[in-house]
Amino acid sequence: MGRVAWGRWVAGAAWLVAAGILGRTEQAEANAERLTRWEFRQPQMGTEFKILLYTTTEADARRASAAAFERVARLNAILSDYDPESELMRLCAQAGGEPVPVSEDLYRVLERAVEVARATGGAFDPTMGPVVRLWRRARRQRRLPDERDLAEARRLVDWKLVELDPEQRTVRLGRAGMRLDLGGIAKGYAAAEALKVLEAQGIRRALVAAAGDIALGEPPPEASGWRIAVATPDAESGVGPTLVLSGCSVSTSGDAEQFVEIGGVRYSHIVDPRTGIGVQGRSSATVVGDEGARVDAVATALSVLGPEEGIRVADQLGLAARVVVVEDSGRAQVRTSRLWETISEGDAARADER
Ligand code: ADP
Ligand code: MG
Repeated sequence: MGRVAWGRWVAGAAWLVAAGILGRTEQAEANAERLTRWEFRQPQMGTEFKILLYTTTEADARRASAAAFERVARLNAILSDYDPESELMRLCAQAGGEPVPVSEDLYRVLERAVEVARATGGAFDPTMGPVVRLWRRARRQRRLPDERDLAEARRLVDWKLVELDPEQRTVRLGRAGMRLDLGGIAKGYAAAEALKVLEAQGIRRALVAAAGDIALGEPPPEASGWRIAVATPDAESGVGPTLVLSGCSVSTSGDAEQFVEIGGVRYSHIVDPRTGIGVQGRSSATVVGDEGARVDAVATALSVLGPEEGIRVADQLGLAARVVVVEDSGRAQVRTSRLWETISEGDAARADER
């Protein structure tokens, strides 16, 4: 008797759930017809953030995008190395001292930064601050950094000196004078976090782009994905393959905008931690994966490692990647990882036909 009642309840519950799902699907389809595309831009983190989203009302679009931009602004106040009052810079001021309790966001980004540093043999190194600073000055003055300054700065660079305690959620920087630089990871993290804010407001068909760091939600209505044109230095147009993607992050890192030319050699704003010298030649690295911060940091690392070694690392990490370098002689090298083949345009087009 009890068993029968239980069985009936289960059947009834299953029916209710099915009706609920059906109801939601029908609703979604009805709404899809009335969805409008909205675009918002705002200067954030030293670049322009762009939000594309689909909603039925303008009020929803405005409210959600404002909340997402607000989240980015808060992250900038935590992660910026330009703002001396940021949480990051206050942490650096205590380098060489005791462990410092930090916010969840700062802890998460540093944890990911150290993980990518380890996985890339230190090609991505969040402690590059002192060296990056010298290269920023070099860019302004169009003069290579002084060798002695560079040697001194390099003594402060070592990601292994970032001591993380997950229990206490503290960070200790092992040497006085250390300076963290999250320029190669913060935008990817912020774009993904901004997308989460939109999702929390019920907006799933959305894209957040922080220049070359893009977080993708569900595709636009009637589309199989967002069309992302990959910047590449080996094409005259500067635009390479188109990817059709959703539910992931894409980062392109390279020297298209920030570089300095001294003595006929082009030095990128990305600096090789093994030499302390800006990456030479025109280059770009594009990485696709699940997590914005990781994808951004790995793209920076692959710019340092170059096509051959970079793609070996991408394959090891199971990430889709494309790395290009055009040497000063004009010779271009392009390599792609195994997973890249599964997401590049040809395959996406075939998937659409199916
Ligand atoms: P972009 O800023 O153009 O999106 P990246 O994501 O590659 O490109 O980040 C480059 C920034 O990362 C530099 O401006 C600098 O602040 C920092 N950086 C430079 N070299 C390294 C490195 N080897 N590892 C970690 N961060 C780096
Ligand atoms: Mg990066």
